[in-house]
Amino acid sequence: MFELIRETQQQARIHAAETGAASAETMARSAQSRYQELAESIDRLSLLTRAMWSLLVEHTELTEQDLIARVKHLDLSDGVADGKVRAQPTECGKCKALISPKFRRCIYCGADRPPPESAFDRV
Ligand SMILES: [Zn+2]
Repeated sequence: MFELIRETQQQARIHAAETGAASAETMARSAQSRYQELAESIDRLSLLTRAMWSLLVEHTELTEQDLIARVKHLDLSDGVADGKVRAQPTECGKCKALISPKFRRCIYCGADRPPPESAFDRV
């Protein structure tokens, strides 16, 4: 009798482990697919950026040094030289609290965040 109970419990544990493994495999495949999509998007953006830059060099007086200086300037605009530009908090038009770019409304008074000053603030 104890053998039967032990065997049943063991089978239940095996089934739960198999279900968990199948779920983890599905999640891993989804993450891999999403990673692939993002990598392809980055490749396309890199190609477009290079094409735009080559046109600017051909049709203007801009140089590679101008580009490097502008990248450094924008990188430091959020106070951290980390190769990224973070959206800055905006001041609430109603209560003057700073609103994180993560929120569409002021967490203190509920007022809508002011419209972005730059199209890149929404990226
Ligand atoms: Zn507010």
